[in-house]
Amino acid sequence: MATCEVCGNDYWLAFEVRTVSGDVHTFDSFECAAHKLAPICEHCQVKIIGHGVEVSGRFFCCGHCARAVEAEQGAEIRDTVGARPA
Ligand SMILES: [Zn+2]
Ligand SMILES: [Zn+2]
Repeated sequence: MATCEVCGNDYWLAFEVRTVSGDVHTFDSFECAAHKLAPICEHCQVKIIGHGVEVSGRFFCCGHCARAVEAEQGAEIRDTVGARPA
């Protein structure tokens, strides 16, 4: 049994997440893990749960948000290649 550091739930399926800095965190759910660890888009402030994009060391949820803040390097980011089903 381990206690989630976000909500305090003592749950037998709690799990640990080790970050790049070596810190180890304990959570009872992915929701709590995201609440604590997910980066926040610098443009729209949503939690970045998927891959997101990193531009000049700054995190964004999508190419649109990257371009809104980092126009030059954000222009390199594509959410799609523009191809659509017919
Ligand atoms: Zn929790
Ligand atoms: Zn965003």
